[in-house]
Amino acid sequence: MRQWDGIVEASALTINDDEHDPEGSTIAFERAQVQAMLRRARVDLEDLDRAAQRILTGEYQVCERCGGPISTDRLTARPATRICITCANKVTRSRARERP
Ligand SMILES: [Zn+2]
Repeated sequence: MRQWDGIVEASALTINDDEHDPEGSTIAFERAQVQAMLRRARVDLEDLDRAAQRILTGEYQVCERCGGPISTDRLTARPATRICITCANKVTRSRARERP
């Protein structure tokens, strides 16, 4: 959170003069980056929480989509994943199709 405070402080000091202040756009950009980072961290935390729940219920290594096993290699690489590699590939492929 120290990074966030620093940016908030910095932008408070430069007073909303984005047009004339060459630093203005940099601060706006940094702020957007930190916000994106925060958002990602929250999603990661939720995913890990869910993973912890799945360990407790014994569903951790069970694919949410097909009910098949999730390989240990995959779980080592992506500890919060809820689907097996086969389903993940299907998702990636169908997402690719949705794009123009
Ligand atoms: Zn699956």
